[in-house]
Amino acid sequence: MLLRMLKRLCLVMLVASLLAPAVSASVLLKRGTKLTNIITPEILATAKNGEVVVGDMIFGADPSFLAAFPGNLWSNGVIVYSFDTALSGEKRANFVAACSAWTIGTPLTCKERASERDYIFVREHTGDQCSGPFVSCSWVGRQGGAQSLWVYQTHWSQAYVLQHEIGHAIGLIHEHQRPDRDAFVFIVEGNVRSGQMPQFNIWPDVAISTQYDYASIMHYFNCSFARDEINCSLRRPDLQTIVPKACALDEVGGAAITQLDYDGVRKAYASNLQAVLVKEQLSACGIVNYEPSVFQAICAPYCEVMGGTQYKKVEEPYENWCGYMSALPPNYERNKCVRIKKTYMTSWWDHDDFSCGRLGAETLHELWVKCGCPMVSVAAACTNVNKFSAGSYEDRDNIPDWKSGRVVYFNDIMKELEQDDLLADDVTENLGNFYQLNYLDRNFETKLMRVRAGIYSLARWERSLNPDYQLTGETVEEITKYRKMRWH
Ligand SMILES: [Zn+2]
Repeated sequence: MLLRMLKRLCLVMLVASLLAPAVSASVLLKRGTKLTNIITPEILATAKNGEVVVGDMIFGADPSFLAAFPGNLWSNGVIVYSFDTALSGEKRANFVAACSAWTIGTPLTCKERASERDYIFVREHTGDQCSGPFVSCSWVGRQGGAQSLWVYQTHWSQAYVLQHEIGHAIGLIHEHQRPDRDAFVFIVEGNVRSGQMPQFNIWPDVAISTQYDYASIMHYFNCSFARDEINCSLRRPDLQTIVPKACALDEVGGAAITQLDYDGVRKAYASNLQAVLVKEQLSACGIVNYEPSVFQAICAPYCEVMGGTQYKKVEEPYENWCGYMSALPPNYERNKCVRIKKTYMTSWWDHDDFSCGRLGAETLHELWVKCGCPMVSVAAACTNVNKFSAGSYEDRDNIPDWKSGRVVYFNDIMKELEQDDLLADDVTENLGNFYQLNYLDRNFETKLMRVRAGIYSLARWERSLNPDYQLTGETVEEITKYRKMRWH
């Protein structure tokens, strides 16, 4: 009976997490932050006209600015902008659309300047601004007066670039520069283009309102600022500047504003929550105190035996890398492979918005174990996760076209799932239909791989409790829906 209840609890939480939007993140650069640790004398030496550019972020170069970052949020959430007269109507419209994208479900609004004192001055450059060609850039937060947002000449039609730069103007810095990022990604310094390493440095003093979000619009891509950008790709992790540590994840970087980017902005701009954010201290994250209500919500009714509500964050020993890191140089940090808990990192979300993002991904799992749900073995966690990649199918000589490649890819994955006896009859009966409904999807292979990872992730949990567990159509439908594939 107890086992069944535990199992149900595990299932409810896991399935719910698969259905929930991916937890997103927002890293707010706090007013008063000391910038001299980040903007070193070498970077400062590149300052021009009182401005210093770090990658795609503009800061003031004078000592008072560096001693205490003066950036503010926009009053009442109103982002005010003004266009350089040379800009075409189409370019203006693209900027307005990108700004509007940030207002969905947030307290932000975008407004063209009438006579406001503080505003974003939107301009175009051809390679002489920001840190050179192919880079757009913006000030971080509201600086007072006119503040430039430079769009590189070819970026006007790339909505994600405009959204990213507006994200800076809103007050956000990069997701991959938050203080806890080393738990989630490897930064491969040797692959970073000369002089660009400051773009990957950690910002120590920021307000984080959500969990680490690999897909945040404020997260760089695997190949951003790569030394060998031409050959770098998802299939060449040896050339990437950012490599995710999660077993089931290859790709990082945001092509659109995520639900959690929105959540972060919502919190940052909700004045009643602001005080909480500012008070939040990252140093407190090493030890997490659970409020009794949160604790009860997670563990009830199995908590009585555990006592206490304080847990120290623990480090698990690293194990092998699930096969993916073998492409990296031999002396690379491969021994520091993904902790077993990281496998679940993308499966959990944070119930408590102000727990420094820890409650969901890591400490929840500790609590979980204490609650009686077993930890699975490292071998089980790493088995099969990266076995398939779409690339190896594209490369096969004997596959005449992409459509045939997709059939082979699909069949191989389904065969594997069936061999592991993971699928209930109502699932196997619908596989043909499932293929027909989805094979024209541009991202078919990627989505399918993620569905597969979701199935194995869930099955690992379930099989640790019931070795005969099989996924039903209902469960598979939830997983496919979460990955934006059609099941029926
Ligand atoms: Zn940026």
